[in-house]
Amino acid sequence: MKKLELTAIALLVIFFSNCQTSNQKEDQWNTLFDGTSLDGWQAAENEGSFYIEDSLLVCHGPRAHLFYQGNEENYKNFELSADVMTKPGANSGIYFHTAFQEKGWPAKGYEVQVNNSHKGTHEYRELKKTGSLYAVRNLYNTFTNDNEWFNLKIKVEGKRVTVQVNDQMMVDYIEPANPVRNDNQQERILSSGTFALQSHDPESKVYYKNIKVKKLPDNTDYDNAEPYLDEELNSAISHLHNIGFPLMDLHVHLKGDLTLEKALDLSRKNGINYGIAINSGLDFPINTDEKLRNHIQENLEDHPVFKAMQAEGREWTEIFSPEAISVFDYVFTDAMTFNDLQGNRMHLWMPEEVHITNKQLFMDALTDTIVNIIKTEPIDVYANATYLPDTLASEYNELWTQERMEKITDELAAHNVAFEISARYKIPNPAFIKMAKAKGVKFTFGTNNTDSNLGNLAYCLEMIEECKLVTEDMFIPEENRDFRKKTEAMATK
Ligand SMILES: [Zn+2]
Repeated sequence: MKKLELTAIALLVIFFSNCQTSNQKEDQWNTLFDGTSLDGWQAAENEGSFYIEDSLLVCHGPRAHLFYQGNEENYKNFELSADVMTKPGANSGIYFHTAFQEKGWPAKGYEVQVNNSHKGTHEYRELKKTGSLYAVRNLYNTFTNDNEWFNLKIKVEGKRVTVQVNDQMMVDYIEPANPVRNDNQQERILSSGTFALQSHDPESKVYYKNIKVKKLPDNTDYDNAEPYLDEELNSAISHLHNIGFPLMDLHVHLKGDLTLEKALDLSRKNGINYGIAINSGLDFPINTDEKLRNHIQENLEDHPVFKAMQAEGREWTEIFSPEAISVFDYVFTDAMTFNDLQGNRMHLWMPEEVHITNKQLFMDALTDTIVNIIKTEPIDVYANATYLPDTLASEYNELWTQERMEKITDELAAHNVAFEISARYKIPNPAFIKMAKAKGVKFTFGTNNTDSNLGNLAYCLEMIEECKLVTEDMFIPEENRDFRKKTEAMATK
């Protein structure tokens, strides 16, 4: 008995003497918040924005940052873990490789975003969600909820930064030799430093607990790691993240060899957010409310992807109920299945089904079909937009006359339906896009892939430049969605 007590005391002595040495041991968790005091933390700007409530660290009040200054450590490679809970509308974040700063948003280091439902303050519209490596790799979708604890882990190893939410990898970023940064973001680069928590605004209330850090060895496998993308593409994509342009491929199918795992891995590496589309309709495996719900629950729930319904056939609004459809973040359809004037059903992408005797009559009928779909179906996005069958594709610019373009774009604007820019088919052409933009139509980017060969939205990136697309031109799932309003309008017809 006596011997055991002595051993216990000896262990305690060793434990405490370890804590007091300024150098933390590698690969050992060290608590940064003891649950009873803010010892070791230093607030800047508004001290009152940080306090303790029920052993939790609360960020709530006017803008302020709380810097960890509890030891002499200069954290370079590390893993940080914290449990976080947001109240509705809250915004916060965890900075790393940062340094104490009297005022303003910390200039040095990176911020990992905490935001499940905050939509911005004043004029500023905030789209970056939980887990984003702020303005470097933005996420526009979150599966974490307000009023629920989630775990956030940030790891830096050499040039590699990873962010995990509830142990799911959200960001996997390798900082290139010359990272693209806006003028006010020049210090948003890897170095070493401390951590800071953010109080964003008086409406934001966020709780933290179990904040702990583990130092990792100075030398890692990622010290000279090469970015996942080539320099030109990496720069173009990084620039879009810097300026907050929502880079999303909202037409991704889990087809061929593309599994959700693979899609998530691709998305993390190329910095493009994905919307996974489920083909749903009469002639498809997903053809009832129940199958819809089960499919989403089993395959897409709790992953950082948007959930899209690709509505197939014209009878989908009768097959599925508005309640079932509303579990999707957005709904799109196309006009590739088409009945000609004689009532023959053609799939426009199947050459053997396409028989066109009069091009102009065909184009008029196609235009009317598209207009009718936009007018009568409660969709958010018109996909594979303006697609022509192979036999007509070379005459695209002539067949889509000014008059036909006006009809389509007028209808998109009138019904608040977004226009998909297709990376696969390289349509619509710039003239069409510019006309729609001038009428206030929103856009999506989509690949409509058949396998894991997703590309990197090359045509869409070109169109951003050529048509001067900005954030306000882009359709944001959830935010720009008015599916309910549309179905109600349909029901009262
Ligand atoms: Zn599709």
